[in-house]
Amino acid sequence: MNIAVIGTGYVGLVTGVCLAELDNQVTCIDIDDEKIAVLKKGESPIYENGLPELLQKNIERERLHFTTDYNEGLANKDLIYIAVGTPQGEDGAADLTFIDQACQSIAKILDHDAIIVTKSTVPVGTNEHIKDQIQAGLPDDVTINVASNPEFLRQGSAVHDTFNGDRIIIGSDDEYTLDILEKVNTGFNLPIVRTDLRSAEMIKYASNAFLATKLSFINEMANLCEKLGANIDNVSEGMGMDKRIGSSFLNAGIGYGGSCFPKDTRAVISVGKKVDYDMQLLENVVGVNERQKVILVDKVMERFKDLQGKKVAVLGLAFKPNTDDMREAPSIFVTENLLDQGADVHAYDPVAAENAKQILSDKITYAASVKETIDGADLTLILTEWDEIKKFPLSEYKQYMNYPVIFDGRNCFDLEQLAGSNVEYHSIGRPAVY
Ligand code: NAD
Repeated sequence: MNIAVIGTGYVGLVTGVCLAELDNQVTCIDIDDEKIAVLKKGESPIYENGLPELLQKNIERERLHFTTDYNEGLANKDLIYIAVGTPQGEDGAADLTFIDQACQSIAKILDHDAIIVTKSTVPVGTNEHIKDQIQAGLPDDVTINVASNPEFLRQGSAVHDTFNGDRIIIGSDDEYTLDILEKVNTGFNLPIVRTDLRSAEMIKYASNAFLATKLSFINEMANLCEKLGANIDNVSEGMGMDKRIGSSFLNAGIGYGGSCFPKDTRAVISVGKKVDYDMQLLENVVGVNERQKVILVDKVMERFKDLQGKKVAVLGLAFKPNTDDMREAPSIFVTENLLDQGADVHAYDPVAAENAKQILSDKITYAASVKETIDGADLTLILTEWDEIKKFPLSEYKQYMNYPVIFDGRNCFDLEQLAGSNVEYHSIGRPAVY
C-alpha cells in the first residue's frame, strides 16, 4: 500500500520503517528540517536497537522516503498515519496542538480519499475530532475515514516490539476501514483486535495507567519492606509467580519516567475530571511516583547530612536503559536536588548524555565512562540500569572511589554479590549493606 507517516519520532519513524519492511511504499513527513536531512542520509536521529539497519535497507530498496513537504508526502497515499507528539499540557490534559497542526496540513493538501490512522496516544473522542477537522477543510468529493491504532512499543526495543508485540489494536466505526487496517497489519503476524474507535483510544490509556499502577504499587511495597525488614526482591519473585499477577513491572526503583507514563496517567485523570469522574486510584499512583523520585536523595541526605564539596558520581541518566530519551527521567529531579545540596555532580550515560545536556544544568561534569565518573567520588548514585552499569565490577568501586558507598535506585546488584566487596550499599526495598 502507499502510506504516509506524519511525525518521525520514536513511534513514527519505527512505524514507517517497519511498514516499509513489510513491502509498503512509505513516505515519512516531519516539520523538523534537521531530522529529515539526517534521515535522508540514511542515519537514525534516535537511538533504537536494530533501527539503523532496517532504515538503510528500506531506503536502498526505494520503499522508504522522507520529506518536510506535505504535498510530496501525501501524494497518492491510501493510508495516512499520524504519529506526532501529544505532550502534557499545563492542566495535565494531553496537548493536541501537534495533532491539530497535522490535521490542518492534511486538510489543506489532500485531494483524494484516504484513511487517517492515529498512532499518537490521544484522549477518547479525539479521532472523531480529527475526522471533523480534516473533513471540514477537504473538497466535497474527497472523503476520509478514521481509525485508531495505538502504539505499544517500548523505547529501546521498539523494532523488536513492532514484530513481536502482544497484540495490535485497530479501532474504527467503519468496517471497511477495519478490513484495510487488518490487511496492512497482517504482516506483523500478531493477534489483531478489532474494536470501535473510542474503545481503541481507551485501551491505550487504560494499559499505560495499569502499568504505572503496578510500578507505584511495587514501590510502595518496597518502602514498606524497608521499614519491616523484608526484601522486595524476594517479595516480587514470590508475587510474580502467581499468573494472575505476572512477574513483569514488579521491579522496585525510583519511579517511572519517560514520555508516556507520566503524561498518560495525568491525561486520564484530566479526562475523568472533564466528565465529572474522580480517578482516585490514579491520583495516588501519580502521587506515589512523585514521592518515589525523592527517596534516593532522602537516603543520601540521611547518610551524609551535607553534600557541600562532595564529588557525587551519577551512573545512568536516561529514563530507562537502551534509550537516549531523557523525557521526565527521574535523573533530572535527582540531579537537580543533588546540585541544590551543593554536590559536585559527575554523570555518565552510555547514550543519553547529549540529550541530558539540553535539560540538565551545565554545572554537571559529563564523564566518558563509569570508571572516570566514580574516580575520586565520595558517593555513587545509580539511576538507570544499563547492562554496562550492572556488569561493572563492585571491586572497582572500592578501588576508585574515595570511600565506596553506592545508592542504587534500580537494584542492579543482588545483595549476595555485595558479600566481601567492602562496598557500602543502599538500594530500594532491601536492607542496607555495610
Ligand atoms: P516524538 O516527540 O519523539 O516525535 C514526534 C515527531 O512529530 C517529532 O519529530 C516532531 O517534529 C513531529 N511533528 C510535530 N508536529 C508535526 C507536524 N505538524 N507535522 C509533521 N511532523 C510533526 O514523539 P513520540 O515519542 O514518537 O510519540 C508520538 C506519539 O506516540 C505520542 O502521542 C506518544 O504518547 C505516543 N507513544 C509514544 C511511545 C514512546 O515510547 N515514545 C509509545 C507509545 C505511544
